Amino acid sequence: MHKNLKQVGQVMFGRGALGQLDAVLADNRQGTAPVVFLVDHVFRDRPEFVARIPVRGRDRIYFVDVTHEPKTGDVDSLRDRIRSELGKVSGLVGIGGGSTMDLAKAVALMLTNPGSSQDYQGWDLVQVPGVFKAGVPTLSGTGAEVSRTAVLIGPTKKLGLNSDYTPFDQVLLDPDLIAGVPERQRFFTGMDCYIHNVESLQGRAMNAFARVHAEKSLALCREVFLEKDRWDGDSDEKLMMASWMGGMSIAYSQVGAAHALSYGLGYVLGTHHGEGNCIAMQVLEEFYPEAADFRRMAERAGVEIPGGVVAGLPAAKLDKMVEVSLGMAPLWQNVLGDDWKRKMTPERVRALYERM
Ligand code: NAD
Ligand code: ZN
Repeated sequence: MHKNLKQVGQVMFGRGALGQLDAVLADNRQGTAPVVFLVDHVFRDRPEFVARIPVRGRDRIYFVDVTHEPKTGDVDSLRDRIRSELGKVSGLVGIGGGSTMDLAKAVALMLTNPGSSQDYQGWDLVQVPGVFKAGVPTLSGTGAEVSRTAVLIGPTKKLGLNSDYTPFDQVLLDPDLIAGVPERQRFFTGMDCYIHNVESLQGRAMNAFARVHAEKSLALCREVFLEKDRWDGDSDEKLMMASWMGGMSIAYSQVGAAHALSYGLGYVLGTHHGEGNCIAMQVLEEFYPEAADFRRMAERAGVEIPGGVVAGLPAAKLDKMVEVSLGMAPLWQNVLGDDWKRKMTPERVRALYERM
């Protein structure tokens, strides 16, 4: 069976695109029902940025704290707050990095679907479309702006709300918004993109549709992180498009070993997604020869990848980490084929963690 990929409804690209958000929203307002803006808390202290958010009538900005990656409980309580404070809304706009993109997608869905967001962690469990939702990324790399999932940490698992209702109705890609991201953050989120491409290109789920996106995205990552003399506005534009195309690649293929291991780190230690991928990539030369380029990129960016991350961890926690990682069956299958369980045993996963 071939995948029938649902994509983002409409997308706008270019410097200053944020200035057109007001007009985009005007086309989607339902009477006087307000629009909700979920905005990354990093912008709370930037009044000049907040002033550009087109707040009209009863619209409301909610700053979201993304110190920790989003949880199902965060989504449910935001949904409850919005319902009680605003009633019916016209739509929801997420402005921020991958965490905010995922929160926005999930809250928009939970404003119309019954129960808790944890009930929808999985594949194609969402029942009905959410409210109108738009995404405005301020970090590039995760591809969360283009994907059909909203990754959440739930009580028992870190897993996305994967469904045809999950992609944004509208995305605004404005490269000005990622200018000035601190280098370390830019590196970790950017490497998520690089690793999406490396993993998908090496994987068994690769195909011509995914390949054109992954190859172009990989080339753009190499250009900005390895070849260019210095970071500039052109780099921002290229990274923004690399993120989009890397996201398109994995949407039509699959990620692999670094992500499978990173999920275990994220679940047990709270390690952020991009950083966890980088930590995992350090021990994956046998799967991904591109790990060598990755190391050069880290050196150029002056970023040291943390080491010894599981040192002193109680055995039960390490076991949980192994279990979470091995739970990512489609990812290991993409790396090693249908008999992956024979090749990637709990002992082998544990040994990989112990090297990180
Ligand atoms: P993030 O959204 O977690 O943000 C990281 C930090 O950067 C935060 O402190 C944030 O406040 C800050 N930040 C955001 N924009 C900034 C800006 N313009 N300038 C300065 N600081 C800024 O980071 P991320 O790497 O973009 O996203 C990681 C999240 O994305 C994880 O929760 C992961 O699970 C998720 N993810 C989702 C998908 C998907 O397809 N849905 C794919 C990969 C990752
Ligand atoms: Zn990723």
